[in-house]
Amino acid sequence: MRFAALQPFSMVNWPGRLAAVAFTTGCNLRCRYCHNPALATGRAEAGITEEAVIAHLRRRRGQLDGLVVTGGEPTLQPGLGAFLARVRQEGFRVKLDTNGTRPALVGALLDAGLVDFLALDLKAAPGAGAWLTGCPGQAEAARRCLRLALAAGVDHELRTTLVAPVHDPAALRAMAEVARGARRWAFQPFRPGGHLDQEAPLSVPDRSWVEAAGAAARLVGVEPVLR
Ligand code: SF4
Repeated sequence: MRFAALQPFSMVNWPGRLAAVAFTTGCNLRCRYCHNPALATGRAEAGITEEAVIAHLRRRRGQLDGLVVTGGEPTLQPGLGAFLARVRQEGFRVKLDTNGTRPALVGALLDAGLVDFLALDLKAAPGAGAWLTGCPGQAEAARRCLRLALAAGVDHELRTTLVAPVHDPAALRAMAEVARGARRWAFQPFRPGGHLDQEAPLSVPDRSWVEAAGAAARLVGVEPVLR
């Protein structure tokens, strides 16, 4: 397995833990708001070897709690399971970030005990993801991943980038039905500039939309986190 970038340590990517962050390149979605176009399209070169990531973890043994594997979309990478097993054998915890579109693979990784924390995107209301992400079934796939994480008893959070005009209060209520049962649902407002589709009519949601997101989460008993 190879990576496009390695962040030596981060205190924010895995709340409460100090972790290195490894970025895979290539993604099966095209979220218009994506802030990593080079990773999404696979233009970023995968120049960092698996050995280099493991060597970094060994050098920081005792300082780092774990490794975050993010993208791009990590579940597209052949050898992901074997790599995560190596990280675990080295004594480090694993956080996996995923766009949720590959529930079968996510389920296999969870069943194998290779994931300590699953960060799972929930992009739009059921049936409404096509325009924003290119994937009409993203919410349904994310729902399956969430159910698998709950069944496996693995810590997790849902993540949504709030963008106007997509995430109006009605959409958020529909998304909340997908989120039901989750431990946490993190919201971050869209940040314009440098994103994938600069021509798309996207804008930053105002404060009332962010508050509506928190209310939608609480309505189904999920803890909202506003980032
Ligand atoms: S924001 Fe969307 S396009 Fe960008 S890496 Fe994540 S899932 Fe892929």
